[in-house]
Amino acid sequence: MNKLSAGIRRTGLGLFAGAAMAFAAPYAAANDAARDAATTPYAPIHVPVQVQHVPDSNVYYVLGLAAVPGQDNEGFTSNAGFVVTNDGVVVYDTLGTPSLGYALLKKIREVTDQPIKYVIVGHYHADHIYGLQAFKDHTDAVIIAQAKASEYFHGSQAGLQQGPAQIRLQQRREALAPWVDDNTRVVKPDVTFEQQLDIRLGDTRLSLSYVGPAHSPSDVMMMVHPANVLFAGDIMQNKRIPVMFGSEVDTGNWLKGLEKVLDMQPRFVIGGHGTPADDPTAAVKFTHDYIEYLQTTMSDAVDNWVDFEQAYAQTDWSQYEDLPAFEEANKKNAYRTYLNMEQQQFE
Ligand SMILES: [Zn+2]
Repeated sequence: MNKLSAGIRRTGLGLFAGAAMAFAAPYAAANDAARDAATTPYAPIHVPVQVQHVPDSNVYYVLGLAAVPGQDNEGFTSNAGFVVTNDGVVVYDTLGTPSLGYALLKKIREVTDQPIKYVIVGHYHADHIYGLQAFKDHTDAVIIAQAKASEYFHGSQAGLQQGPAQIRLQQRREALAPWVDDNTRVVKPDVTFEQQLDIRLGDTRLSLSYVGPAHSPSDVMMMVHPANVLFAGDIMQNKRIPVMFGSEVDTGNWLKGLEKVLDMQPRFVIGGHGTPADDPTAAVKFTHDYIEYLQTTMSDAVDNWVDFEQAYAQTDWSQYEDLPAFEEANKKNAYRTYLNMEQQQFE
């Protein structure tokens, strides 16, 4: 058993075919450092990427701006983080452009020269993944995602349909030029898992668990032990209206995932967007209550044969309307929930 496979324990089903290849990858801090010294091959950014530290822990994070990706924020709208162990670094999410991913990599290098061993993809959505390219090109890290990440590339029905990856990339090349350009590519995972994957690095254990399909088909949370810090991904979007109008969203599983966050009792939670929380109960409560509010109001409307426009106009949104992403997401979220409730009547 080589060094890497000794440190990784799978408790889920189905191993990804690429795993054996990835295990053979060598890790060399010197290689990382030499490649980092090269000039950035990506468009320069102006938004500040600032690293914050979870007190009394080996966990660090950066916080994106509370907005939808655009020219003003240069695509820096999501959170990411990393864990520094005495046997290498694990990164959770890589931000929304190769430039931002590279900036994150530079920030990690300011904290440690340990090799970056793994990059965990919290889920495959454009605002979190284009930074993977920087890690693929400039480190030897193994990229890990949940198995349903394949739907992002190939669609949910194998062989029949294209996934969102290419369409989204085209749209982002227009919306986020020059940071997403013709050289930007969507990097696939090297290793996937089904339900649970534990990684032990030095004195740190990282516990990856699948909580999807919730916000996306491939939602993964990462618990850091013994720090007791949780990267919750996009199922937790503290004090921000979550984007939940995609056809792939499963609000039932989403609520279950939030309950799982509470069961884990982390002392600090970093969500995919918005401010992190040292009070997970309050943080989870926000997203949980929002989803429940949508379900209650929209199911009442469906039960009473009220059409969507009227139901939306009659609903009191005052507790949410001043929050980030309300304009962009709330009405669509409500409509998606309305359609789900309508569908449930026929099941
Ligand atoms: Zn997101």
